Amino acid sequence: MNKITPQPGIMDIALYQGGQSHVAGVEHVIKLSSNENPFGPSPKAIEAARDSAATLHRYPSTDHAPLRQAIGARHRLDPARLVCGVGSDEVLQFIAQAYAGPGDEVIYTEHGFSMYPIIARMAGAMPVMVPERDRHVDVDNILSAVTEQTRIVFVTNPGNPTSTMIPEAELARLAEALPQTCLMVIDGAYAEFVDGFDGGASLVDRFENVIMTRTFSKVYGLGGMRVGWGYAAQSIIDVLNRVRQPFNLSLTALAAAEAAVNDVEFLTFCRAENARLRVWLSDELAKIGVPSDASCTNFILARFADQAEAEACDDYLKTQGLIVRRVAGYNLPNALRITVGDEDACRRVVAAITAFKGGAV
Ligand SMILES: *Cc1c(COP(=O)(O)O)cnc(C)c1O
Repeated sequence: MNKITPQPGIMDIALYQGGQSHVAGVEHVIKLSSNENPFGPSPKAIEAARDSAATLHRYPSTDHAPLRQAIGARHRLDPARLVCGVGSDEVLQFIAQAYAGPGDEVIYTEHGFSMYPIIARMAGAMPVMVPERDRHVDVDNILSAVTEQTRIVFVTNPGNPTSTMIPEAELARLAEALPQTCLMVIDGAYAEFVDGFDGGASLVDRFENVIMTRTFSKVYGLGGMRVGWGYAAQSIIDVLNRVRQPFNLSLTALAAAEAAVNDVEFLTFCRAENARLRVWLSDELAKIGVPSDASCTNFILARFADQAEAEACDDYLKTQGLIVRRVAGYNLPNALRITVGDEDACRRVVAAITAFKGGAV
């Protein structure tokens, strides 16, 4: 028996389950299980990544100044108040590591991102799950779960895997009502898919205890590069930089992300295609008895009669080379999360679910 034991809480961490990408025996699969951009990264990001190869013997920038300048210019934010991480996952981890520990509580919501309880436990803190209301974050439920031990509240807006969002006024009400000793993290991984939503940046400016996180993994199509960022009060950024490794982002990742944020044309194209196709996909599935909430993201949450039907549909989609995501682990057993692909992928999904439903009745 090994006497070397990990810190308390570590063995309570459930290993993260990623979206599936292969089906045994089926070729030409379309992966719609991880909310990736069907159009890939910007061609300019690809070129920048390639160009970086010649200087890979050099250490990358430690302060990420060029990338922070580019993000700041694009979003009209002070670059000094930005921190970059290996995906927004790492920024979320900095926050938990720096602000929560043994004896502390970290709140997340019922259908919230599965990384929140993982990073809370990594920091030695206790994750506390709060119910949502009809697949929407409920501010009153969060407030009634706050205790003297609460250090962080994680809210995803728009949500994953729900695809819904709550109004900025509700987020402001939450920020206002939380104790000043408690951080509120607005995870804006899908903010770009909502017209006119700043991801929570204006709330960061209004409330000292609010942090916004963003990612290059979704609309920018750079999930494989692992780049995310956070925006907060200067005092918080100064703390997060202390738990950040000096060379956390590779030269290639920094170059690709900077090129991506500057390619507004590609971003505009991806957002427009997504907005068009998510409505089409959702409408077509509703017509055949598979409803979903109006999506504010690049996926829809398709609801079935029960868990058995959702799983049978998932199995059938796999035989058709379509990989979507089961979300029973997010307390949504009768639903499947389907990433909005390109037009061909969306048509294949509708045809396959139509065939499944036809066969089922
Ligand atoms: C995809 C996603 C992220 C982004 O993760 P990265 O580490 O930036 O790839 C963060 N939060 C939510 C809710 C997500 O769905």
